[in-house]
Amino acid sequence: MDNNGYVMGGIAFLLIIPAVIISTMFINVVNLDETVKIPIKSDTIQHISGDIESNIPILTLQVLKENSDMVVKTGETIPNSRETIKRSIQSKIDDLTSKYQENTGINIYCKINNVDNSLNPYAICVNSTVDVHCNTSTISKNISQDIQFVCSDSATDSSVESYKIQDPLPFIKTRGYGVLTVVGDKINYGTTLSNYLKSQGLNNSEAYENASSPLYFKKCPYDPYNFHGNSNGLLNLKNCIDNGYYHESRAGACIFCRLEGKSTCTHFGLETFIVPSKSSVQIPTAPCSVDHVIFGEYGHYPIEIYPGTILEYYRTDNVSYHIFLDNGHRNKYGLPLT
Ligand SMILES: [Zn+2]
Ligand SMILES: [Zn+2]
Repeated sequence: MDNNGYVMGGIAFLLIIPAVIISTMFINVVNLDETVKIPIKSDTIQHISGDIESNIPILTLQVLKENSDMVVKTGETIPNSRETIKRSIQSKIDDLTSKYQENTGINIYCKINNVDNSLNPYAICVNSTVDVHCNTSTISKNISQDIQFVCSDSATDSSVESYKIQDPLPFIKTRGYGVLTVVGDKINYGTTLSNYLKSQGLNNSEAYENASSPLYFKKCPYDPYNFHGNSNGLLNLKNCIDNGYYHESRAGACIFCRLEGKSTCTHFGLETFIVPSKSSVQIPTAPCSVDHVIFGEYGHYPIEIYPGTILEYYRTDNVSYHIFLDNGHRNKYGLPLT
């Protein structure tokens, strides 16, 4: 009996130690809560809701980058891209608000209501509701943010640079026709694009052997667009092509439709040039060198890819740098008509 009593006493003592530790932790938690609660007035919850709000664009760019990287890797479309992107932003926001809740004890709720096109084709619009409750203070805000997903050459902000978004469309459209290689900021098509165009039954598809196009969305600074044709020797057009810029376009696909594998859509979208390889032999006509034409939709035959006539924008050592353009696009960019 005595021995048992000692054993019980020993166990009881051992149990007391964690109980003391836990109660100390509990007191610490309570104290932390109390000390945080004292200054938590409207300015603190204002600060928290402002912080959540300023994190939405960063998380949105992360999600866009993850989705476009995935398409570039697999060539597979993201059906219903708005909903997919909305859910991914919501999940990142939930992680963030639960961290806030753990650290401050304040109830935070942020719902991503809608992700859709912005009036600006270089941005997407994210609508959300942020609620922060603490004691008797509450903030409830409905926020609509236009989040630009294109980078610019002049960007010095490294956080923007780290979210450079790749154009997913070329990787979806040429899937199964060969391998695209990425060289710097450009996609090099090798024989992939010419194979693809040939398979569509198009003439002079060989003009697009070793063609290239931009990898990242970049906004063209030559605006209004007729500045492209303003310079001597089409130097502005050459700079635009060398830098791989994108342009606003009614016919070109928006970012969401690009992720879904569509080259054209009814939303206000973007277009860029797909540049045939430079050569000493000139072909007079070939498929028009604009991405929404080259990757034209084939819901039904006949194919909607239309031809363009050659436009040489640079020549050196008897080598011709050129694209093929129809008069509609020549007009848009202020280039000589045929
Ligand atoms: Zn341009
Ligand atoms: Zn669209």
